[in-house]
Amino acid sequence: MRHEIPQVVDAVIGGQRGDEGKGKITDDLACDPNTTYVVRFNGADNAGHTLLIGGQEYDVHGLPSGILHEDVMNVVGNGVLVNPHHTALEVGKFQRVGVPLGIHNLAISSIARMILPHHIELDRLREVGAGKQGSTVRGVAFAASDNAKRESVLTENLLTRSGRKELAEKVEAGLHATNEQAYAIGREDLVRANVANATKYWISKAMELVPYIADTTAMLREAVLRGDGIVAEGAQAMSLDVNYGQYPCVSSSNPGVAGMLSGMGIPHSSIRNVYMVAKMMRSHVGGGPFITEETRDQALLDRLVGRRGDVDAEFGTSTGRRRRMGYFDIPELRTATYLNDVDSLVLTKLDLAPRFGETIKVATGYQTPDGIVDYAPAGSAKQLEACSPVYEELPLWSRDISNARSFKDLPKKAKHLVNFIEDAVGVEVKYIGVGPGRDQLIKR
Ligand code: GDP
Repeated sequence: MRHEIPQVVDAVIGGQRGDEGKGKITDDLACDPNTTYVVRFNGADNAGHTLLIGGQEYDVHGLPSGILHEDVMNVVGNGVLVNPHHTALEVGKFQRVGVPLGIHNLAISSIARMILPHHIELDRLREVGAGKQGSTVRGVAFAASDNAKRESVLTENLLTRSGRKELAEKVEAGLHATNEQAYAIGREDLVRANVANATKYWISKAMELVPYIADTTAMLREAVLRGDGIVAEGAQAMSLDVNYGQYPCVSSSNPGVAGMLSGMGIPHSSIRNVYMVAKMMRSHVGGGPFITEETRDQALLDRLVGRRGDVDAEFGTSTGRRRRMGYFDIPELRTATYLNDVDSLVLTKLDLAPRFGETIKVATGYQTPDGIVDYAPAGSAKQLEACSPVYEELPLWSRDISNARSFKDLPKKAKHLVNFIEDAVGVEVKYIGVGPGRDQLIKR
């Protein structure tokens, strides 16, 4: 039997290195009356979206951005590495501020791989040593590596007595092993006391998730075949893709369409639209090459980062780290849009472009040892390090555009910048962000 697959999935993918403003567009798509599901398909609780709704700021880490819509089913797909402890805390945090989260609007895949306490300890141990990677110390890479080694524990283990026993044994053995490592490097401060109690407590917290654990692959199959609208929300972004990003300065997952298909269990033919989000100023967290980085003009960098505490300031939602900042990078977006067969671009933070001054530099190509190329090399930080940007400079406007709600309201120079990016990338810009608020969005 060959299935008739309705095209019902709208994908939201980060086109740069994260923090592009995916939360807002996902939220906008979730408001569409035809949207029945919002699904997170990759990453872990190291990601962070900030939603500004009705003047209230909401930070969302491991949960989908649709949780503020009661009539939408939010799914944590099997591609997400689930820290049950943190997820339970996050659910409680939203319930306490009155977000009506329950089994009617939240489901967690029963085959999601769990982040266990010793994954976090391993991360911590690495971060205090010479192999430090500047990770968020959430244990993500270690949980992902257990999956590759076929040693993960799935959330379904929480559902049965034998599963919990297996889980407890794994957690205890893991913590004993990380304690040994901590002793071996003379870091007694990183030793976890009373492993048996810690394990028991951790499992009791994890059990709070049990009501939400479901066969989401079957749930989403039925939804697709029924023709329900689904928004698939990527965490992180293409330049952090573990295969096609700036390896090894990457995340542990596939944040694009490839990861979406396996991270929620849907066929490629169910895709309706692929939206790729990119913001006017490129930002970068952690080490690794950043071709269009501004390093010299401190006053410009301070303007681009914004004031700590402002909702749209360039400090990590999960870590509070100040981001490295730079210029719009077309070759990076050409590679990302090609790999994901993108239908539409979402250009965010156009309102902040005047922070660059009277003009803005946009990288249109990379100078490499073999000449100028149009596409960023995928999958290798080393190759990227051998490139330098080829810039064009475009004029900027000075007036505030945060109240603009249609393309024709924008100053001529803003329209020109948008059209320039659209032509250079070869993909239409369908949405333009002009502020952090839910309604500060231009639809073309
Ligand atoms: P994500 O990591 O891609 O999900 O990024 P977020 O959704 O957390 O967005 C990062 C920040 O940018 C949030 O504080 C948003 O409110 C803010 N933001 C999103 N779009 C815009 C925009 O068009 N203009 C401004 N000024 N801020 C925006």
